[in-house]
Amino acid sequence: MAIVTPIEAPQGERRQLSLASPATREPIGEIEVQNAHDVALALEAAQKAQPEWAARSVDERARYLTRALRKLIERQDEFIDVLLRESGKPRAEVLMMEIYSACDVLTYYAKHAAEMLHGEKRQLHGFMRFMKKLRIEYRPLGVIGVISPWNGPFILSLSPTIQALLAGNAVLLKPSEVTPFSGKLVGDLFESVGLPDGLLTVLMGDGETGEALTKAGVDKISFTGSVETGRSVAVECAHQLIPCTLELGGKDPMIVCEDANLDNAAGGAVVGAFLNSGHVCCGTERVYVIDKVAHEFTQKVLERVALLRQGSRGEFDIGTIFWDRQLEIIEAHVADAIAKGAKLLAGGRRNPDLDGLFFEPTVLTDVNHDMLVMQEETFGPVLPIMRVSDLDEAVRLANRTHYGLGAIIWTRDNRNGVELARQIDSGSVCINDMAVTYGVLEAPFGGLKNSGLGQVHGWNALRGFTHPKPILIDRFGGRPSAGLYPYSFKNDARMQRLIRILYRSPIGRWLS
Ligand code: NDP
Repeated sequence: MAIVTPIEAPQGERRQLSLASPATREPIGEIEVQNAHDVALALEAAQKAQPEWAARSVDERARYLTRALRKLIERQDEFIDVLLRESGKPRAEVLMMEIYSACDVLTYYAKHAAEMLHGEKRQLHGFMRFMKKLRIEYRPLGVIGVISPWNGPFILSLSPTIQALLAGNAVLLKPSEVTPFSGKLVGDLFESVGLPDGLLTVLMGDGETGEALTKAGVDKISFTGSVETGRSVAVECAHQLIPCTLELGGKDPMIVCEDANLDNAAGGAVVGAFLNSGHVCCGTERVYVIDKVAHEFTQKVLERVALLRQGSRGEFDIGTIFWDRQLEIIEAHVADAIAKGAKLLAGGRRNPDLDGLFFEPTVLTDVNHDMLVMQEETFGPVLPIMRVSDLDEAVRLANRTHYGLGAIIWTRDNRNGVELARQIDSGSVCINDMAVTYGVLEAPFGGLKNSGLGQVHGWNALRGFTHPKPILIDRFGGRPSAGLYPYSFKNDARMQRLIRILYRSPIGRWLS
């Protein structure tokens, strides 16, 4: 979330990037961009370390997480400082989104991984159950490439990394060039608890490093970032026939029903749109409110927005835009909306009282789907509110997008909320809250449409870092297939009789 400037490097040497705080523009450090050769060396070390790690029990691996949790709590002020410096967000957001969430994922996965990854017996269906026994083993994939974005630079690097490690893999982590030091904290944390050498390497760099990682020969890529980069990562993975998880952008709709508690809905809309300066993949990007309550809802939103304090020192509610390129996108979306007839009710400009990348919390009404702000991910502190005549129109417009990450519904009638949730084409839906599914670790979080492939939490996600390997055991020492040859018409007739018994007779129905 910093301002990134390339530094000229002599030919043959690694490129360097200089980073400055987005809040104060003061220098915060430099990084060398690691190249394909660096990635190859890290991969070699990871491949060497991984088999011994995979041979350990899940409980043994989980003990490193428990130690990491203790260290994180001990060293939290140091971690908070790095995150604050690079992001310019309020301390409360660092605590909530990064430190608390990190403690929660470390605790949850350390506690539950053994159960989730334990080999299991599965009973077979029908006749087969008398012949065979099935075991499923969750076997590590090998080396996982984790590529993370800048908007939640510590937690979005940590969470896939610990899941991959717990599942018995080694990890090469490439954090964003915009927040490299926050991503590197993940490496520092595990180094401080003595994770074996080579198992986790943090690769510093930019798109060159990320691309090199996707081409290096890892066994899976876990990618969080934009749709555009995600697509090129998917193409590279397809080329190598390796799996990938893609957690991509969103354009989450919020529907405010006529019966909603408007105070809570307005509060939820404000937090959903402005938390983390609006840089939240499942942030509230557009609101559809039923005409009858639209005026009251909008007034309540505006009252809350007027109280928001933007800044970089002391107590404040909204920090900076995390990096300069995102600021340009936000400005372009707002300008496009105004040019097409949107009404600006708050904000709409860089904060004139603050140096650094500050964009005022912005509220727009009279918006429509011809505007970028209703179609493309703005990823900034902008809340467009659109009136709709009924819930059918709200659902139709909510679904009119190529994104499908999350959605939010405000209603006093949970049954109605669930019915609406079913009709929305999104990976998840929250009723009467901003989108918080990512933080609910039991919920399989992932996107539909252009918002991604696969899930990042829950059993599916953890097991996604393994190959579920069926091991099938014959109960009779292989006697049935050993006697299969020679084929004969007599045996064919027996087979046909068996098929009739199994699939047409009452006894067959009972068996299945
Ligand atoms: P980007 O796609 O720009 O970057 C993501 C990561 O990919 C960065 O580490 C980046 O490196 C790296 N990268 C860049 N080019 C390549 C390449 N060719 N091959 C491999 N890796 C590459 O996304 P942002 O960092 O801008 O993140 C914001 C986006 O992430 C938003 O769209 C947001 O919605 C989405 N997101 C989705 C989440 C979800 O769970 N669905 C959660 C959080 C964010 P570098 O930055 O150094 O160029």
